[in-house]
Parts: sequence; structure tokens; C-alpha cells
Amino acid sequence: MSEDTIFGKIIRGELPATVVYEDDVCMAFRDLYPAAPMHILLIPRKPIPRLCDATAEDQALLGHLMLTASKIAEQEGLGDKYRLVVNNGEGAGQTVFHLHLHIIGGRPLSWPPG
Ligand code: 5GP
Repeated sequence: MSEDTIFGKIIRGELPATVVYEDDVCMAFRDLYPAAPMHILLIPRKPIPRLCDATAEDQALLGHLMLTASKIAEQEGLGDKYRLVVNNGEGAGQTVFHLHLHIIGGRPLSWPPG
């Protein structure tokens, strides 16, 4: 599967990234412009543009992403203090149209987010 987003290029090895986890379904790498001391992006290899573009066919993939996010948080020493964020659509701040989970931690996280 190929696509023209930055994350598609990272998946295909055309752009460098600091990869912290990968398997057949997904990969995770450090955000280039971190919003916190720990800021990792977890993406499916399948190019789903936005969460709202996912279908019932993607149910197992979405579950895998959630469980993998938890595993990565543990691997990175975040304990139980981290936040998962999905920006869905331009109006919600999404800038890269390849579904991704932000895994954010390493500092106090206030609520509500901006
Ligand atoms: P969004 O705003 O779409 O929810 O998140 C996109 C994220 O990708 C942002 O946090 C941004 O800092 C990150 N980002 C943008 N370009 C690159 C890049 O080339 N490499 C990496 N690793 N992260 C990027």
C-alpha cells in the first residue's frame, strides 16, 4: 500500500524516523516536534486517513493500536501516567492525514486539553 503523506514515506523508509516499536500491523516513532518530554506517534501500516474513515473491517486493527500504545508506554517507562490523543480532521488539529495515536507523557498533563 502506498500513499503520499509524511507517515507513508516513513513506513516505506523514504524518510528517517526514530522508530521505537514495529510489527506487521503498525509502527511507532518519536514525534519530530514533541509537545512533551515523551511524544510518540503510533500509526497503522494501512493508510487510513482519519479515524472517521475506519470501518468495521478495521476493528481488530484499532484494538491492536490501543493495546500496542499501552505496551509502548510501559516500554518507554511512562508507567500509568500518559495520554493518548487522536486528532480527527483539520478542525481538530489533524495535520497529517494518516491515522495516528499520539502517546504523550513525561510531564503533568492538564485537562481539558487545548
Ligand atoms: P496531527 O497534528 O496530525 O495530529 O499530528 C501530526 C504530528 O506529526 C505532529 O505532532 C507533528 O509534530 C508530527 N510530525 C510532523 N512531521 C513529522 C516528521 O517528519 N517526522 C515525525 N517524526 N513527526 C512529524
